[in-house]
Amino acid sequence: LLPRATPLYSEEGGVAGVTIVLQDVTRLMRFDELKNDLVATVAHEFRTPLTSLRMAIHLTAEEAVGPLTPKQVELMQAAREDCERLQGIVDDLLDLSRIQSGRMALQVDRVDAGALLAGAATALRGAAEAAGLELAVSAPEPPVEVRADPERAGIVLSNLLANAVRHTPRGGRVELSARLAGEGAVRFEVRDTGEGIAREHLERVFDKFYRVPGSRSGGVGLGLYISREIVHAHGGEMGAESVPGRGSTFWFTLGLASEHAGGGVKATA
Ligand code: ADP
Repeated sequence: LLPRATPLYSEEGGVAGVTIVLQDVTRLMRFDELKNDLVATVAHEFRTPLTSLRMAIHLTAEEAVGPLTPKQVELMQAAREDCERLQGIVDDLLDLSRIQSGRMALQVDRVDAGALLAGAATALRGAAEAAGLELAVSAPEPPVEVRADPERAGIVLSNLLANAVRHTPRGGRVELSARLAGEGAVRFEVRDTGEGIAREHLERVFDKFYRVPGSRSGGVGLGLYISREIVHAHGGEMGAESVPGRGSTFWFTLGLASEHAGGGVKATA
Protein backbone atom coordinates (compact mmCIF):
# COMPACT_ATOMS: atom_id res chain seq x y z
CA LEU A 1 0.00 0.00 0.00
CA LEU A 2 1.31 3.43 -0.99
CA PRO A 3 0.20 6.11 1.53
CA ARG A 4 -0.14 9.75 0.46
CA ALA A 5 -1.05 12.57 2.87
CA THR A 6 -2.33 16.06 1.99
CA PRO A 7 -2.95 18.80 4.61
CA LEU A 8 -6.37 20.56 4.64
CA TYR A 9 -6.13 24.28 5.43
CA SER A 10 -8.73 26.33 7.31
CA GLU A 11 -9.79 29.78 6.04
CA GLU A 12 -7.33 31.36 8.50
CA GLY A 13 -4.52 29.43 6.84
CA GLY A 14 -3.94 26.94 9.68
CA VAL A 15 -3.93 23.20 9.21
CA ALA A 16 -7.45 21.95 9.93
CA GLY A 17 -6.98 18.32 9.03
CA VAL A 18 -5.26 15.82 6.80
CA THR A 19 -6.57 13.56 4.04
CA ILE A 20 -4.75 10.26 3.78
CA VAL A 21 -5.11 8.17 0.65
CA LEU A 22 -3.92 4.56 0.63
CA GLN A 23 -3.42 3.30 -2.90
CA ASP A 24 -3.13 -0.42 -3.57
CA VAL A 25 -0.07 -0.67 -5.87
CA THR A 26 0.12 -4.48 -5.99
CA ARG A 27 -0.94 -4.56 -9.64
CA LEU A 28 1.53 -1.80 -10.56
CA MET A 29 4.35 -3.70 -8.88
CA ARG A 30 3.32 -6.89 -10.66
CA PHE A 31 3.40 -4.97 -13.95
CA ASP A 32 6.89 -3.68 -13.13
CA GLU A 33 8.04 -7.24 -12.44
CA LEU A 34 6.61 -8.46 -15.77
CA LYS A 35 8.31 -5.57 -17.55
CA ASN A 36 11.65 -6.46 -15.94
CA ASP A 37 11.22 -10.11 -16.90
CA LEU A 38 10.42 -9.15 -20.48
CA VAL A 39 13.43 -6.85 -20.76
CA ALA A 40 15.73 -9.50 -19.30
CA THR A 41 14.37 -12.26 -21.56
CA VAL A 42 14.56 -10.20 -24.74
CA ALA A 43 18.07 -8.94 -23.96
CA HIS A 44 19.18 -12.48 -23.15
CA GLU A 45 17.69 -13.88 -26.37
CA PHE A 46 19.48 -11.18 -28.39
CA ARG A 47 22.90 -12.27 -27.18
CA THR A 48 23.50 -15.42 -29.24
CA PRO A 49 22.31 -14.11 -32.63
CA LEU A 50 24.19 -10.88 -31.99
CA THR A 51 27.42 -12.79 -31.41
CA SER A 52 26.97 -14.69 -34.71
CA LEU A 53 26.17 -11.47 -36.51
CA ARG A 54 29.27 -9.74 -35.14
CA MET A 55 31.43 -12.68 -36.12
CA ALA A 56 30.01 -12.78 -39.69
CA ILE A 57 30.51 -9.03 -40.09
CA HIS A 58 34.02 -9.23 -38.64
CA LEU A 59 35.09 -12.02 -41.04
CA THR A 60 33.55 -10.26 -44.03
CA ALA A 61 35.02 -6.87 -43.12
CA GLU A 62 38.48 -8.40 -42.67
CA GLU A 63 38.08 -9.88 -46.18
CA ALA A 64 38.55 -13.40 -44.78
CA VAL A 65 35.88 -14.66 -47.18
CA GLY A 66 36.95 -12.73 -50.25
CA PRO A 67 37.91 -9.23 -51.38
CA LEU A 68 35.47 -6.32 -51.00
CA THR A 69 34.80 -3.26 -53.12
CA PRO A 70 35.34 0.11 -51.38
CA LYS A 71 31.56 0.55 -51.14
CA GLN A 72 31.24 -2.86 -49.45
CA VAL A 73 34.01 -1.92 -46.98
CA GLU A 74 32.07 1.23 -46.12
CA LEU A 75 28.82 -0.70 -45.60
CA MET A 76 30.59 -3.29 -43.45
CA GLN A 77 32.05 -0.54 -41.27
CA ALA A 78 28.58 0.94 -40.74
CA ALA A 79 27.17 -2.54 -39.94
CA ARG A 80 30.01 -3.10 -37.47
CA GLU A 81 29.34 0.15 -35.64
CA ASP A 82 25.59 -0.59 -35.43
CA CYS A 83 26.36 -4.04 -34.04
CA GLU A 84 28.63 -2.57 -31.36
CA ARG A 85 25.90 -0.11 -30.42
CA LEU A 86 23.32 -2.89 -30.22
CA GLN A 87 25.69 -4.97 -28.11
CA GLY A 88 26.11 -2.01 -25.75
CA ILE A 89 22.33 -1.65 -25.38
CA VAL A 90 21.89 -5.40 -24.74
CA ASP A 91 24.66 -5.31 -22.11
CA ASP A 92 23.03 -2.28 -20.45
CA LEU A 93 19.60 -3.98 -20.38
CA LEU A 94 21.10 -7.14 -18.86
CA ASP A 95 22.88 -5.03 -16.22
CA LEU A 96 19.62 -3.21 -15.51
CA SER A 97 17.77 -6.48 -14.93
CA ARG A 98 20.60 -7.72 -12.68
CA ILE A 99 20.41 -4.53 -10.62
CA GLN A 100 16.62 -4.66 -10.34
CA SER A 101 16.55 -8.25 -9.22
CA GLY A 102 19.47 -7.70 -6.83
CA ARG A 103 21.68 -10.11 -8.77
CA MET A 104 24.66 -7.81 -9.34
CA ALA A 105 27.26 -9.69 -7.31
CA LEU A 106 30.58 -7.91 -6.79
CA GLN A 107 33.93 -9.69 -6.75
CA VAL A 108 35.67 -7.22 -4.49
CA ASP A 109 39.45 -7.16 -4.40
CA ARG A 110 42.30 -4.72 -3.83
CA VAL A 111 42.71 -2.76 -7.04
CA ASP A 112 45.34 -0.20 -7.98
CA ALA A 113 43.55 3.08 -8.79
CA GLY A 114 46.11 3.98 -11.47
CA ALA A 115 45.59 0.61 -13.17
CA LEU A 116 41.84 1.26 -13.34
CA LEU A 117 42.47 4.63 -15.01
CA ALA A 118 44.98 3.11 -17.42
CA GLY A 119 42.57 0.29 -18.38
CA ALA A 120 39.78 2.71 -19.29
CA ALA A 121 42.19 5.02 -21.13
CA THR A 122 43.56 2.13 -23.19
CA ALA A 123 40.05 0.97 -24.13
CA LEU A 124 38.97 4.45 -25.27
CA ARG A 125 42.25 5.90 -26.62
CA GLY A 126 41.40 4.97 -30.23
CA ALA A 127 37.96 6.60 -29.97
CA ALA A 128 39.47 9.74 -28.40
CA GLU A 129 42.08 10.02 -31.17
CA ALA A 130 39.47 9.47 -33.89
CA ALA A 131 37.42 12.27 -32.30
CA GLY A 132 40.47 14.60 -32.32
CA LEU A 133 40.70 14.85 -28.53
CA GLU A 134 43.62 15.02 -26.13
CA LEU A 135 43.34 12.27 -23.51
CA ALA A 136 45.26 12.82 -20.27
CA VAL A 137 45.60 10.43 -17.34
CA SER A 138 46.64 11.59 -13.91
CA ALA A 139 47.22 8.64 -11.55
CA PRO A 140 47.69 9.14 -7.80
CA GLU A 141 51.29 9.43 -6.69
CA PRO A 142 52.29 7.45 -4.63
CA PRO A 143 49.96 4.72 -5.93
CA VAL A 144 46.83 3.85 -3.91
CA GLU A 145 44.61 0.79 -3.86
CA VAL A 146 40.82 0.75 -3.60
CA ARG A 147 38.43 -2.01 -2.57
CA ALA A 148 36.47 -2.71 -5.72
CA ASP A 149 35.31 -5.24 -8.27
CA PRO A 150 37.87 -4.41 -10.97
CA GLU A 151 35.59 -5.33 -13.87
CA ARG A 152 32.60 -3.33 -12.61
CA ALA A 153 34.71 -0.33 -11.58
CA GLY A 154 36.30 -0.47 -15.04
CA ILE A 155 32.82 -0.34 -16.62
CA VAL A 156 32.02 2.81 -14.63
CA LEU A 157 35.18 4.58 -15.77
CA SER A 158 34.73 3.44 -19.38
CA ASN A 159 31.11 4.67 -19.39
CA LEU A 160 32.15 8.09 -18.11
CA LEU A 161 35.07 8.29 -20.51
CA ALA A 162 32.96 7.21 -23.51
CA ASN A 163 30.40 9.91 -22.62
CA ALA A 164 33.13 12.54 -22.28
CA VAL A 165 34.54 11.60 -25.69
CA ARG A 166 31.07 11.60 -27.28
CA HIS A 167 30.13 15.03 -25.92
CA THR A 168 33.39 16.91 -26.50
CA PRO A 169 34.00 18.66 -29.83
CA ARG A 170 37.20 18.10 -31.83
CA GLY A 171 40.26 19.82 -30.36
CA GLY A 172 39.00 19.40 -26.77
CA ARG A 173 40.55 17.65 -23.81
CA VAL A 174 39.43 14.79 -21.59
CA GLU A 175 41.19 14.06 -18.32
CA LEU A 176 40.96 11.00 -16.10
CA SER A 177 42.25 11.32 -12.56
CA ALA A 178 42.14 9.78 -9.10
CA ARG A 179 43.28 11.14 -5.75
CA LEU A 180 42.90 10.52 -2.04
CA ALA A 181 39.81 12.34 -0.81
CA GLY A 182 40.01 11.93 2.98
CA GLU A 183 37.91 9.60 5.17
CA GLY A 184 39.42 6.54 3.54
CA ALA A 185 38.09 7.29 0.07
CA VAL A 186 39.60 7.73 -3.37
CA ARG A 187 37.90 10.20 -5.70
CA PHE A 188 37.92 9.39 -9.41
CA GLU A 189 37.14 12.14 -11.92
CA VAL A 190 36.47 12.30 -15.63
CA ARG A 191 36.68 15.89 -16.75
CA ASP A 192 35.92 17.15 -20.25
CA THR A 193 35.90 20.47 -22.09
CA GLY A 194 32.74 19.54 -23.99
CA GLU A 195 29.20 20.80 -24.52
CA GLY A 196 28.28 20.61 -20.81
CA ILE A 197 24.85 19.92 -19.33
CA ALA A 198 22.23 22.52 -18.34
CA ARG A 199 21.28 22.58 -14.67
CA GLU A 200 17.74 21.29 -15.24
CA HIS A 201 19.13 18.15 -16.89
CA LEU A 202 22.17 17.64 -14.67
CA GLU A 203 20.04 16.35 -11.79
CA ARG A 204 18.30 13.86 -14.06
CA VAL A 205 21.12 12.35 -16.15
CA PHE A 206 21.53 9.60 -13.54
CA ASP A 207 17.85 8.60 -13.87
CA LYS A 208 16.94 5.36 -15.57
CA PHE A 209 16.41 5.89 -19.35
CA TYR A 210 17.03 9.65 -19.10
CA ARG A 211 18.68 11.32 -22.08
CA VAL A 212 19.19 15.04 -22.55
CA PRO A 213 16.80 16.09 -25.34
CA GLY A 214 18.63 16.90 -28.57
CA SER A 215 21.93 15.49 -27.30
CA ARG A 216 23.82 12.68 -29.05
CA SER A 217 23.35 9.47 -27.15
CA GLY A 218 25.42 6.35 -26.83
CA GLY A 219 22.60 4.06 -25.80
CA VAL A 220 19.19 4.15 -24.19
CA GLY A 221 20.00 6.42 -21.27
CA LEU A 222 21.13 3.65 -18.93
CA GLY A 223 24.90 4.20 -18.80
CA LEU A 224 24.94 6.70 -15.94
CA TYR A 225 22.14 4.96 -14.03
CA ILE A 226 24.05 1.66 -14.14
CA SER A 227 27.31 3.39 -13.25
CA ARG A 228 25.80 5.05 -10.19
CA GLU A 229 24.18 1.76 -9.07
CA ILE A 230 27.58 0.03 -9.36
CA VAL A 231 29.23 2.77 -7.29
CA HIS A 232 26.46 2.61 -4.67
CA ALA A 233 26.83 -1.18 -4.51
CA HIS A 234 30.47 -0.51 -3.56
CA GLY A 235 29.34 1.93 -0.84
CA GLY A 236 30.62 4.92 -2.81
CA GLU A 237 29.00 8.08 -4.15
CA MET A 238 28.72 9.58 -7.61
CA GLY A 239 27.88 13.01 -8.94
CA ALA A 240 28.48 15.56 -11.66
CA GLU A 241 29.21 19.23 -12.12
CA SER A 242 28.91 21.07 -15.37
CA VAL A 243 29.06 24.48 -17.00
CA PRO A 244 27.11 24.51 -20.28
CA GLY A 245 29.41 25.30 -23.18
CA ARG A 246 32.53 24.81 -21.01
CA GLY A 247 32.54 21.17 -19.94
CA SER A 248 31.54 18.60 -17.35
CA THR A 249 33.14 16.70 -14.51
CA PHE A 250 31.75 13.33 -13.47
CA TRP A 251 33.15 11.95 -10.21
CA PHE A 252 32.75 8.95 -7.94
CA THR A 253 34.35 7.61 -4.81
CA LEU A 254 35.55 4.15 -3.83
CA GLY A 255 36.84 3.02 -0.46
CA LEU A 256 40.58 2.94 0.10
CA ALA A 257 41.91 -0.59 0.70
CA SER A 258 43.02 -0.61 4.32
CA GLU A 259 46.71 -0.81 5.20
CA HIS A 260 46.05 -3.69 7.56
CA ALA A 261 44.36 -5.97 5.03
CA GLY A 262 47.70 -7.12 3.65
CA GLY A 263 49.62 -5.77 0.68
CA GLY A 264 51.27 -2.84 2.45
CA VAL A 265 49.36 0.13 1.03
CA LYS A 266 50.29 3.52 2.46
CA ALA A 267 47.16 5.60 3.00
CA THR A 268 49.00 8.90 2.99
CA ALA A 269 48.78 11.50 0.23
P1 ADP B 1 23.50 6.84 -22.82
O1 ADP B 1 24.03 5.49 -22.36
O2 ADP B 1 22.24 6.76 -23.64
O3 ADP B 1 24.54 7.71 -23.45
P2 ADP B 1 23.89 8.01 -20.21
O4 ADP B 1 23.11 7.55 -19.03
O5 ADP B 1 25.31 7.60 -20.31
O6 ADP B 1 23.04 7.58 -21.50
O7 ADP B 1 23.82 9.59 -20.26
C1 ADP B 1 22.58 10.28 -20.08
C2 ADP B 1 22.60 11.64 -20.78
O8 ADP B 1 23.58 12.46 -20.14
C3 ADP B 1 23.02 11.56 -22.25
O9 ADP B 1 21.84 11.65 -23.04
C4 ADP B 1 23.88 12.78 -22.47
O10 ADP B 1 23.12 13.77 -23.10
C5 ADP B 1 24.23 13.30 -21.08
N1 ADP B 1 25.70 13.22 -20.82
C6 ADP B 1 26.36 12.20 -20.23
N2 ADP B 1 27.68 12.48 -20.12
C7 ADP B 1 27.86 13.71 -20.64
C8 ADP B 1 29.01 14.56 -20.81
N3 ADP B 1 30.24 14.19 -20.41
N4 ADP B 1 28.82 15.77 -21.41
C9 ADP B 1 27.57 16.16 -21.81
N5 ADP B 1 26.45 15.40 -21.66
C10 ADP B 1 26.59 14.19 -21.09
